[in-house]
Amino acid sequence: MRHRRPRKGKRVLRCPQCNSDHLVYEGALIMGQVYHCLDCDYIGSFVIETDEAEPAPPLKTE
Ligand SMILES: [Zn+2]
Repeated sequence: MRHRRPRKGKRVLRCPQCNSDHLVYEGALIMGQVYHCLDCDYIGSFVIETDEAEPAPPLKTE
C-alpha cells in the first residue's frame, strides 16, 4: 500500500536568494543535487521546496 500525500498540487522549488521558481536541475555533484536559478544565477544544493499554492516565506538575503 502506498502512502498518500495529504497535500494537493505539485511541489515547486524556489531560489533561496531571489525566491524565483525558475530553477533547473543541474545534476548531482559531490555535495549532492545541484540546482541553478535562471534569474540570479544562483547555483547550489540548497533550495526551498514549497507548495505551488502557498506563497513562499519572505527571505532575507543578508
Ligand atoms: Zn535566484
